[in-house]
Amino acid sequence: MPRFDPAEFGRLLARLTPQELRQAERLVADARKRAEAVLEVDARADAGGPAASCPRCGGDARIRWGRTRTGAQRWNCAGCGATWSGRSGTPLARVHRPDLVVALARDMIEAPQPVSCRRGAEVLGASRQSIWRWRMKIIGVLTPEADNSLAGIVEADEAHQRESRKGSREWVQHRRDPAKHPAPPRLRWRDYKRRGASCTAPPGGWRAWEKKLLAATDRAGC
Ligand SMILES: [Zn+2]
Repeated sequence: MPRFDPAEFGRLLARLTPQELRQAERLVADARKRAEAVLEVDARADAGGPAASCPRCGGDARIRWGRTRTGAQRWNCAGCGATWSGRSGTPLARVHRPDLVVALARDMIEAPQPVSCRRGAEVLGASRQSIWRWRMKIIGVLTPEADNSLAGIVEADEAHQRESRKGSREWVQHRRDPAKHPAPPRLRWRDYKRRGASCTAPPGGWRAWEKKLLAATDRAGC
């Protein structure tokens, strides 16, 4: 990487058109987001931080060992030779763009209506598959909110929803290798006719395939 020369960079900026400047501002903002994510990652491995000691042997003696692809400090254990960074063992390990994951997590938690994978891919400039993988990682570490006990006038409502096997590979796998994957216990929903029409119910009856949902609303709470 060429060395950063502020004077030369200033001369380059002076030559830019307003449009190019706006483009440069976006690039700088993007770079800053990356840098902030890296600083946060490095802070985990600071002395006293959760990733300060060797994850393999727990030793504290370590030396700096270059940087990871994302620019985070890598450490090398003097005892056992293991290398790690502040991201090791976290859901962000092996993610090339931790800043985008942080942005996605923020959207999932704070936005009233989180973006779809497709839209997230457009906004963040990553692939749909990456957004999906990151989302699964984020969901995996989100601990459910503490069970707020209800008080005052409580409204409870029961609803039923047919069990969904959307995304399930059971039929595909069965067709591919019937010996290893036995036939699923029921057809796909679209293979049954509409309810009410004369058709055979799935094994166990329709009710057996319904999930019970219980919604509780606290009318007095805020
Ligand atoms: Zn070690």
